[in-house]
Amino acid sequence: MTKKFRVGILGATGMVGQRFIQLLENHPQFEITALAASDRSQGKSFQEACIWRLAGEMPAFVKSMTVAAPQPPLDCELVFSSLPGEGGLARESEGVFAGAGFPVISNSSAFRMDSDVPLLIPEVNHEHLALLDVQRKNRAGQQGFIVTNPNCSTIMLALALAPLQAKFGVSSVVATTMQALSGAGYPGVASLAISDNVLPFIEGEEEKIEQETLKILGKFTGTGIQEAPMAMSAQCHRVNVTDGHLAAVRVKLLRPATLDEVSAALASFTALPQELRLHSAPERPIIVREEVDRPQPRLDRDAGSGMSVTIGRLQTDNVLDYRFVALSHNTIRGAAGAAILNAELLIATGNLI
Ligand code: NAP
Repeated sequence: MTKKFRVGILGATGMVGQRFIQLLENHPQFEITALAASDRSQGKSFQEACIWRLAGEMPAFVKSMTVAAPQPPLDCELVFSSLPGEGGLARESEGVFAGAGFPVISNSSAFRMDSDVPLLIPEVNHEHLALLDVQRKNRAGQQGFIVTNPNCSTIMLALALAPLQAKFGVSSVVATTMQALSGAGYPGVASLAISDNVLPFIEGEEEKIEQETLKILGKFTGTGIQEAPMAMSAQCHRVNVTDGHLAAVRVKLLRPATLDEVSAALASFTALPQELRLHSAPERPIIVREEVDRPQPRLDRDAGSGMSVTIGRLQTDNVLDYRFVALSHNTIRGAAGAAILNAELLIATGNLI
């Protein structure tokens, strides 16, 4: 029988925490044994502490679990973190868990840009896991380790760019996002601010997309990551959609490629997670649609059980070389599903035993 790792969820009552619980309910390699959240929730049963915001019922196995503080000791072998990245909370809590010997698979922004922390998308940069050796050397007192997944918009952008970078090289990218409400957590944006409206500002988001993409697509040099040498520009908007981030993307390639070649590079893209048949890996990381009016959040966010990026509107562009629209599920491929796939890769590569 496959070993099941006993996992704790930090930020378990939130939008991403609930998605972790839903995705891990019947997972073959993980079982949830601990849940942690703020002092508003601590000491209560999960059922008392959490209003379930996802479709379907709160899974029965978590209802009577007592919510703990996001501090060791916690009754688990590793933690998935969906603590707020801002305000220092995630950095402090995740750092303490890693120090105390726990593998920390984080979804928050706290450690993403640290030079010795893998910012991992298993299909794109699994070789960045070698940073874990650098991390062990740099942080001598730390018994555990930290692996992070990117920002929810960055993930789909980096996944879309990876095959283009590998086949043709990418010199410039301009991305304009339209991001769903669940990306702001619960209760998120006030309904009176977003109804009949689009908000052209999401704090910190443009910087995250611009910086993280270059790290993810960068090269491991033996001691760190050399950022990808491309110009990157992002503009972000909050739109009145529940789930599913969309990005209108323009790219300039380094080498000439026909539209058919670009389309084929995207549609045929598979990588290590598909080869290893990791449990959460979608059969097709990128789905290219030909219809003129796709992708759409409501119709395409659940593609590949929420783990595929859907690309459409692929055309030549009059300013850069090509343009397309990308879409993915922000709390699955963009958050909890991404972290779980990272953990599955850590098991498959012998980094979690
Ligand atoms: P959320 O719905 O606001 O949930 C936040 C969670 O953190 C809740 O469980 C909350 O517990 C807990 N928390 C808040 N303050 C705390 C404190 N002082 N001490 C301990 N726990 C505390 O947020 P979310 O959307 O799930 O996002 C969580 C993290 O994932 C953030 O870092 C976010 O940037 C990242 N992320 C989110 C998305 C997305 O699409 N939503 C995508 C990618 C990454 P209580 O219920 O007890 O207050």
